[in-house]
Amino acid sequence: MRSRRSATTVRWIVPGIFVLAFLSVARAPLPVLAAASEQPSLVILSIVGTSDLHGAAFPRGGLGGLPLLAGYVNNLRAARAADGGAVLLVDSGDTFQGDIESNLSEGALIVNAYNAMGYTAESIGNHDFDFGSTDSPTARQMPGDLRGALKARAAQARYPFLAANLIDDGTGRPVEWPNVRPSVVVNAAGVKIGIVGVMTIDALRSTLAANVQGLRIAPLAPAIAAEASKLRAAGAEVVIVVSHAGGRCDRFDQPADLSSCESESEIFQVARSLPHGLVDGIAAGHSHGGLAHQVEGIGIIQPFSRGQSFGRVDLVFDRKTKRVARMQLFAPRGICAQQDPITENCVPTSASASANASADRSAAPVKYEGRVVTPDPAIVQAMAPARERVRRLQATTLGVSLDVPIRRAGDFGSPLGNLFAHALREAVPGADVAVINNAARGLRADLSDGPITFGRLYDVFPFDNRVVKVTLTGAELGRWLAIEIREGRRNELGISGVGMRATCLEGGIHIDLRRGVGQPIHDEDRLLVVTIGGPTLSGRVASAVPLGGAGPAENAPVVREVVEDWFRGLGHLANDQLDHATQRRLESADPQTVACVQALDLLRGQSLLEELDERW
Ligand SMILES: [Zn+2]
Repeated sequence: MRSRRSATTVRWIVPGIFVLAFLSVARAPLPVLAAASEQPSLVILSIVGTSDLHGAAFPRGGLGGLPLLAGYVNNLRAARAADGGAVLLVDSGDTFQGDIESNLSEGALIVNAYNAMGYTAESIGNHDFDFGSTDSPTARQMPGDLRGALKARAAQARYPFLAANLIDDGTGRPVEWPNVRPSVVVNAAGVKIGIVGVMTIDALRSTLAANVQGLRIAPLAPAIAAEASKLRAAGAEVVIVVSHAGGRCDRFDQPADLSSCESESEIFQVARSLPHGLVDGIAAGHSHGGLAHQVEGIGIIQPFSRGQSFGRVDLVFDRKTKRVARMQLFAPRGICAQQDPITENCVPTSASASANASADRSAAPVKYEGRVVTPDPAIVQAMAPARERVRRLQATTLGVSLDVPIRRAGDFGSPLGNLFAHALREAVPGADVAVINNAARGLRADLSDGPITFGRLYDVFPFDNRVVKVTLTGAELGRWLAIEIREGRRNELGISGVGMRATCLEGGIHIDLRRGVGQPIHDEDRLLVVTIGGPTLSGRVASAVPLGGAGPAENAPVVREVVEDWFRGLGHLANDQLDHATQRRLESADPQTVACVQALDLLRGQSLLEELDERW
């Protein structure tokens, strides 16, 4: 890995060392000046940007994967090494939360790979707060610092995490955590390059609120301007911004033509607000869009998301004028092993495409910078230990084996939703009712038959949402459930603690609630209701607080861990208790009600099955 980094001629200069380096040059000027005079005037600095990887370390359908991305970067580094230039590899955040290999290692597997790939810097994204506190070896949320997992990733990285506009309320200044700082200066091919990191103004509203308490986001442009000016004053000859804020364009053939772009894109507004000539390039992210455009003389790149492509801008720096003389922007480049030899477009190799089919399309090994791109085995190796730990964790059994699968969608209620609700209600002392709405969407998979492992439970609910408690009257709970049914989500309701009967009245659906065996719940009764807390990680998790009520308490249990504990505690009574947990709560003996609910489905113009089949 050391030789890989030195080949890029990128060298670290933290501010203190920068001064020392300058002084040592002053003490021995002659050899340095002689070497400098032999250097060509123009030098190419290739900025490669990745963003919104969301844990996608491995290829899907022949697209993406960090070992293959490293292959492209290796080819580019070889080209720059040959012409005396350098490559800077930067990531614009939302790096860790997503695929299971990354999630179950809290992103450690990705940092292992990025360290081996010789990343230069990354900016922090909103979803990089999602993991909260660090996990124990069995993937338990540990009490303590709710930013512990993010800080652990920064500490693990051999490149800095940058966040110039993430302000600590306590100090009024950008956060200073180990290896997290506003900016960094690196020396690449003898050019001093300042790099500033920022995140979107909405960052703290798009993650779990508890994890970002005591933090705020400062407006991007003034934060960049202040930091970039400081870097220029300290001798930076080029300044680039790594930004977890971005934009979206559809065409990439004319960098100056913004007609295919969302004109109000956050990063365009930032670029327009910066003093002219202060910033040379921006590696953007967050919006999952693509960019290869120039705004106010700044080259902006953005590579879509999930590691399917990378962005690139070449800054041609003139050592005589100490300015960027020109730049070349490249369209987001798909990451794949095979390409169409004529169009150079990626030819994905999916499981469904037969060997014959891809042969028909005359796919050829992909080339970049004149060489065939090959996955870098060093990156596979760097991720291997964390991947093995994840596999072992996935295979851990919870002591229960299912004779039949438990499905998300049922008929008048979700069996798997009922089970989650049951486990949540049992875990909260004094809880009367637990409700999970939208369970068929919030839960990401059915629980298939066979032994239940941690990995399979994780596939059902990969999020770290916490349990939330809310007090409702019988009337409020009934109204909420009636809305769910009227909106066509009757099969997505998970309920525990009450039985209910739906009746179709002229004014709409009416819900009668009862406890246990027939004891009615009155409109004015007050009920402690337990559910899954928002805000969501994916935007699609069941967020079941009906009245915009309280969020989860900081120390509330994590939903998945509650269900895991419930399974572990089942023991030999498993079958009885499973039946009890999943059994139907909603009865409607009245055929008229069934007809009325079905008519409502038809009125909504979409059958429930279609809705469940939607990809999300
Ligand atoms: Zn984001």
